[in-house]
Amino acid sequence: MILSFSTLIFPWSGHSVYTFLVMEHSEVDLDFFVKIRPRDFEEERVYNQRGKLKEYLLEDISGLTGTRLIDDELVNKYGFLNNSSVDGQLPAWQIVSLYSSFPDIGIDHLKDVSWIQDTFLGDSQALRHSKIKVRPIEVFEGDQSFLYFAKKSSELLKVGNEYWGLRYLGYALHYLEDLMQPYHTRPGTVWELVRYPFDKNIRILLQNAHAAYDDIMTYLILYDGDRLESIISNAKPIYFSSYEQLIKEAYMYSHSEFFKVHDMIKSLFGDALYSSALSMEDFAKLAQQGKLDNLINETYKIISTMSSVIKGFVTMQLDNH
Ligand SMILES: [Zn+2]
Repeated sequence: MILSFSTLIFPWSGHSVYTFLVMEHSEVDLDFFVKIRPRDFEEERVYNQRGKLKEYLLEDISGLTGTRLIDDELVNKYGFLNNSSVDGQLPAWQIVSLYSSFPDIGIDHLKDVSWIQDTFLGDSQALRHSKIKVRPIEVFEGDQSFLYFAKKSSELLKVGNEYWGLRYLGYALHYLEDLMQPYHTRPGTVWELVRYPFDKNIRILLQNAHAAYDDIMTYLILYDGDRLESIISNAKPIYFSSYEQLIKEAYMYSHSEFFKVHDMIKSLFGDALYSSALSMEDFAKLAQQGKLDNLINETYKIISTMSSVIKGFVTMQLDNH
């Protein structure tokens, strides 16, 4: 029996806008212009380069339409994050924010990367954006993806390659943000996972629960923007002694939040999780009835912690150069 979690993994939505809000409310100064340059260094990391991706990986793609670096629902208010460059330059804050969505563009859809992937996943998008822990198994390499880009970004900034240093900082933030979505650290309870291979309903339930929670960030940006911004703004930077310690703590924290969030999602959405995917309007309706408060408060706790971790990380990353 091949156990596959691959259908469970969706993106935590709203990366670029969330990253932008954290940058805006942090101490780091990203208010300067950076000259764009094509990628001119070699890399050991393997990417999916099919179709346009090959070009996207080497060139700046700000201003291009159809890349979906900003969620459709958020384009109205935050479309400026995808403004075209002017005179071959982009503001530093835009590079970091826009490119924090880039890893979901398809570059991690690979085959034959590792035996874990071949056995459990069949596709590496899930592998590279998660770290699943169900005692005693600990697999997937979202943490390795973070470490790779955090270190690469630091090296590039050190040698004065500002554009790629900031762009890879954005990539690193993507994986850090993904790992702080509790469903990226654990797909279900032990009981649900035992039944998972045999029970279609459980598969649908876990898929929809994960997808519903992925959408909550976009929901908050759209419907509760002021409070979200004040939570982000009040988050104090947290500093870690190494990238390894940072990502481990971030992931352990997110994993510890899983059961609380999962219970709330299930009791909130109930049988609806067995049928269709939930929409933003479903969230809004529940919020109007006052039923979303607990889940939102718990989510703000996670967002506050995540914003603190990001502020500390970005400050260290940029101060060292
Ligand atoms: Zn992702």
